[in-house]
Amino acid sequence: MKIVKTITEMQELVQSYKQDGKSVGFVPTMGYLHEGHLSLMNKARSENDILVVSIFVNPLQFGPNEDFDRYPRDFDRDEALAKNASVDIIFYPDVKEMYPKEMAMTIHVQQGIDVLCGRSRPGHFDGVATVVLKLFNIVMPTNVYFGMKDAQQVAVITQLIENFNLPINLVPCDTLREEDGLAKSSRNVYLSSEERKQASAIYQSLQKSIERIKTGERNPLVIREFITSYLTDYTDGMIDYAEILSYPELKEIEHLNGNIIIAIALKFEKARLIDNVTLTVES
Ligand code: AMP
Repeated sequence: MKIVKTITEMQELVQSYKQDGKSVGFVPTMGYLHEGHLSLMNKARSENDILVVSIFVNPLQFGPNEDFDRYPRDFDRDEALAKNASVDIIFYPDVKEMYPKEMAMTIHVQQGIDVLCGRSRPGHFDGVATVVLKLFNIVMPTNVYFGMKDAQQVAVITQLIENFNLPINLVPCDTLREEDGLAKSSRNVYLSSEERKQASAIYQSLQKSIERIKTGERNPLVIREFITSYLTDYTDGMIDYAEILSYPELKEIEHLNGNIIIAIALKFEKARLIDNVTLTVES
């Protein structure tokens, strides 16, 4: 496994693989790897000749009062996990390498960001789309793997690829969970033991919402009300959002029908957790 820290070396390596007709699978991450990341890597490993993983905590996608400085980092641990997952290259640039000077332009996402994390984190998806476009130009992947845990990110990157005609295939991947249903996340380490116990209520409320829909509920407001009371009853967290939207359009709906997403963001003292489920509803 190679650790590549410069853009030039990464581009040269990938170009030589491409010349040899090899496919390149790419998993962009912010590191502090967990089994969710590893599930993306395993899928990418089985579908490509070369597997590249990037580890970069991108300052552009963090707001001024967010957790950029204290985002968990442990490269030695990540390196061992990646090696074990048969990764060929870790692209591990520092901030100076990615942003040697102030950007003269960035990507501005203008659709699908008036909801969910786009609404709670102004500018977040501009930062995500900008760094992902840079990473795509550096790694030049054949296939790129993103987790549905960040469903709005999948929707934004799908549009990025389509709008800018990037010759890249995006593979959305299922969310990996702890035994009690909590979605694996690098930020789970911030939870106190009491919060960690309460956090399973997020997925429980999503599962119970699905049950309600299966037994005939079609009013999104009723589902939202249910989630709000459930999380209020079973956690001390603050609800940032609980939304039911069409997916992947992310439009508000009055009646549940077709492909939908139920998404939650819950703020605990030091960690803001997100989770969602997507499903198809028969009218
Ligand atoms: P992050 O390091 O949080 O930026 O995540 C890197 C990639 O891993 C993103 O595509 C995430 O959606 C994905 N990911 C994060 N958590 C999970 C999970 N629990 N299951 C599957 N994929 C995940």
